[in-house]
Amino acid sequence: MKLINTMLFLLAGTALQAQVITSPNGQLKVNVSCDNGVANYSVVLDSDTLICKSPLGLRTTIGDYTKGLKLTGMSEIKSVSENYSLPQSKIADISYTANEATYSFATDAERSVPAFDVTMHVDNSNVAFKYTIHSVRARGGERLSCIVEEENTIYTFPEGTTSFNCPQMLPQGGFARTTPSYETFYEYDAPLGKNGSGLGYVFPALFKIGDKGWVMLNETNVGGNYCGSRIDCAGDRAYTIAYPDEREFGGVGQANPGLSLPGDTPWRTITVGRTMAPLAETTIQWDLVKPQYEASIDYKYGRSAWSWIIRMDDSCNYDEQKEYIDFASEMGWEYLLIDAWWDRNIGYEKIEELSKYAQSKGVGLFLWYNSNGYWNDAPQGPRGKLHRLMDRRREMAWLQKAGIKGLKIDFIGGDKQQCMQMYEDILFDANEFGLMVIFHGCTLPRGWERMYPNFAAAEAVRASENLSFGQNDNDLEAKAGTIHPVLRNAVANMDFGGSALNKRYSKGNDRGTYRRTSDVYALATAVLFQSPIQNFALAPNNLTDAPDWAIDFMKKVPTTWEDMKYIDGYPGKYLIMARKHAGKWILAAINAEEKPLELQYNVNELFSGSEPVTVYSDTPELVGGVKTVKANKKGIIKLSVPCNGGLVVMQ
Ligand code: CA
Repeated sequence: MKLINTMLFLLAGTALQAQVITSPNGQLKVNVSCDNGVANYSVVLDSDTLICKSPLGLRTTIGDYTKGLKLTGMSEIKSVSENYSLPQSKIADISYTANEATYSFATDAERSVPAFDVTMHVDNSNVAFKYTIHSVRARGGERLSCIVEEENTIYTFPEGTTSFNCPQMLPQGGFARTTPSYETFYEYDAPLGKNGSGLGYVFPALFKIGDKGWVMLNETNVGGNYCGSRIDCAGDRAYTIAYPDEREFGGVGQANPGLSLPGDTPWRTITVGRTMAPLAETTIQWDLVKPQYEASIDYKYGRSAWSWIIRMDDSCNYDEQKEYIDFASEMGWEYLLIDAWWDRNIGYEKIEELSKYAQSKGVGLFLWYNSNGYWNDAPQGPRGKLHRLMDRRREMAWLQKAGIKGLKIDFIGGDKQQCMQMYEDILFDANEFGLMVIFHGCTLPRGWERMYPNFAAAEAVRASENLSFGQNDNDLEAKAGTIHPVLRNAVANMDFGGSALNKRYSKGNDRGTYRRTSDVYALATAVLFQSPIQNFALAPNNLTDAPDWAIDFMKKVPTTWEDMKYIDGYPGKYLIMARKHAGKWILAAINAEEKPLELQYNVNELFSGSEPVTVYSDTPELVGGVKTVKANKKGIIKLSVPCNGGLVVMQ
């Protein structure tokens, strides 16, 4: 009844003309219409169309809502706003103001009863919408649940649009049947009409609308309520929402999402900007969700040492982990992550001993777990401890008793609703035992920082492990580094595990793949790549073989941020961004282009021009160093970032 009361008009049997909702500043406009029985929308910034008129609708087991529709009502447009704090995300204190309206659609056969609603939420740089599917009267009683067989949301881009996207991985492929896990290389400035490796592209998806601006597609509010989706090619310039492949998650669970009715789909989000700033800085993924439970304790974030990235599986033994505890303590870091095989190489009793030792040194432990189950063949242990409720809760009770601070859970290849339910169940249980959770080899978190307060970070990116596995990733490291902070990391905390100071990825620093990026690049990405728990790739040998200024910086670098500012960049080429901690900005830049990135930066934009700034920078030969620089009378300092180099400016 409440819904009916707020309807401005609801005219049985009468179709409405196109209905417009605009952003609070009036610049972003969404036109919703119904033409020849098909629901449509378009997105316009000032007078530039960024998403051309494209269909909306769904095909479900209780009705086909992709055709034969009438727009029967639009609610009044209401202003919604909220302030909330999310200290474990890229911006600690968030506020938004948006306009919202609900559009009701009916099928011809039953014009006065809406089959579904579309709620539009429009702020100055985001358009978001969700479908609410209603129950239907049927012979034999009311239909109170449905399976969504297909979502006919289409995104049609203007001519001249190019894309920067990450192809969806094949199901049950990769290492030991652990994919898909969002770990392919991006395509840069690619023409539309492609479909990745045949299975489309993962969220978030990025499009450059010629010289008009940028569009990022994503979704949010996905937990056990729905599956994770992706985009699939639907024509020369169009993409549609696609659901998981049946084979994902070892074939467990159905591919299509199910809803109890009335029920909501996740929000589809479209973030737009003339520059990439609104995309990099968006908080729409959290604005539209609510905490699903209260934090059981005050979770503490920080820096973590991690032996596996340099020394691999063999290092997860008692002596080397003790060495890494001492290293974390020496660095003043809060945590140590003990990776795979600790169950075999250290054992539960000795872990308790290590945990006591770590606590005596002010270091908390995270322990690695295999997620399975029977959906992967990954041999790494501990296996089979988390997928069944009683085993999981027993294990977590032990973790809590042993003083462990969190889990890193690996190898969960799938986005099905049942898979999302498992993520949510693990997070909920972990919170009861005061444990934080990092996921690895996993899905993209969709609103999780706010939904689940003990969720720390997820991989869902081609992360640092590939720098150890193969040289090609090192050769392309800086190129990939320029896209992550403005795309993948813009929508969720990212467990990249980077900032190595080793020259080579091996225990002796004398074998393995070669790092092509500079030491200042490592420092810059410690700022650009954001996660409240940072598993840094530094090693104990760096205390003696890395420059003192680099070690000193890594001892002090924060992992939580009050605010951020996108300054300039181009995915695949270069990036300049700043983050703020304890009232002070840190500017960081990296460059992947052959020619040096030359900057004439006005320090007054972030710093006080009358005081010198501290600059970490590289020579053209990638020799790093730190110096203090005084700006000229106009506040300008000249800076240069060579290819594969970095820059950090602070005061
Ligand atoms: Ca991985």
